[in-house]
Amino acid sequence: SIQLSENGETEDLLIDGKDEPIFLLGTNFPTDEGLIINAWNWTFDKDYTNTLNQESTVDIKYRATIYMKILNWDTIIFKRLLLLFFVAFLLFLFIILLVTYSIRNLLKLKRISDIKTDFINNITHELKTPLATLSIATKTLTNKFAKDNKEIAKDSIDTINRQNKRLQNLIDQVVDNSVGYNDINLNKEQVNLSSFLKDLSEDYALTLPKHIQFIKSISDVSEEVSVDQFYFSTAIVNILNNAVKFEGSVIKITYQIENFEHIISISDNGIGISKKNKTLIFGKFFRVSEKNTHNFKGLGLGLYYCKQIINAHKGTLDVKSRKNEGSTFFIKLPLSNGKKNLISR
Ligand code: ADP
Repeated sequence: SIQLSENGETEDLLIDGKDEPIFLLGTNFPTDEGLIINAWNWTFDKDYTNTLNQESTVDIKYRATIYMKILNWDTIIFKRLLLLFFVAFLLFLFIILLVTYSIRNLLKLKRISDIKTDFINNITHELKTPLATLSIATKTLTNKFAKDNKEIAKDSIDTINRQNKRLQNLIDQVVDNSVGYNDINLNKEQVNLSSFLKDLSEDYALTLPKHIQFIKSISDVSEEVSVDQFYFSTAIVNILNNAVKFEGSVIKITYQIENFEHIISISDNGIGISKKNKTLIFGKFFRVSEKNTHNFKGLGLGLYYCKQIINAHKGTLDVKSRKNEGSTFFIKLPLSNGKKNLISR
């Protein structure tokens, strides 16, 4: 605005900047879109002699304002913050990953701790019975009457021997079955698996109670495999024992060559294994702990040991199973001479 006043009294408003601002320099835009960044007031006074020859003072008051508008300020700010957003996003992802990893680790630790607790409970339970029996037998022996009666003394000594053996077996199971496949020293020999498995299943059938049906489907294969008979039969008997223990009433053992591999399968129609436990059962001390599986005795070492034995033979041990329908365990061994032998025949 430019305002004129004479002798202190407002005379004239030359330009009313408020209602109609005059654009002086820069880029024009509506003032309400901008921000006031500076405002000036200047006043000049000038003495002059008017037409009536009187001395007078005239004041000229200027007022100017600078408005500023930043074009596309949001895009500019967004561009500047983009890197920050990106870093923040990466940090966020990193934190999420860290939290997931920690939770997974915690769950893993909890599972290991549960497995250990289960193992301790199982072994304590297994140890209790022979110890109690031993204590009864020794008490009987110390009894004067029993000492004089040879038959009672012999019975008690037999019981002590049996329980002693049982305790020894338990300890051996824990010590032997805990080894990794690198620690197993195999004494390998060339074995014809057909006759080996036929003999093993004949013997095993004799140990089975009458109500269990044992089916053998063992093909005659001339190919020999290099195996340690002691360890290999331990693994197979372990799997067969599990089939009986976990309520199989029809158990089947098969053997054939397929896809250049010796394949032995042992199936049962027992309680089966749920999908989530299928890979876990081969872990050390792992036992399925579901409501209806509490009654099955064991230490959770059998399948771990079998897997170590089969791995030491450079083979694989897998399972296919459905809960309440039964399980099939597969032992696969590579052909001794690889594929060539079969192809050239
Ligand atoms: P254990 O028999 O001493 O418990 P294993 O290592 O032999 O230990 O087996 C681990 C777990 O795998 C068992 O506790 C059981 O829950 C499951 N399992 C093994 N074999 C069978 C089977 N044939 N049918 C159902 N569950 C099985």
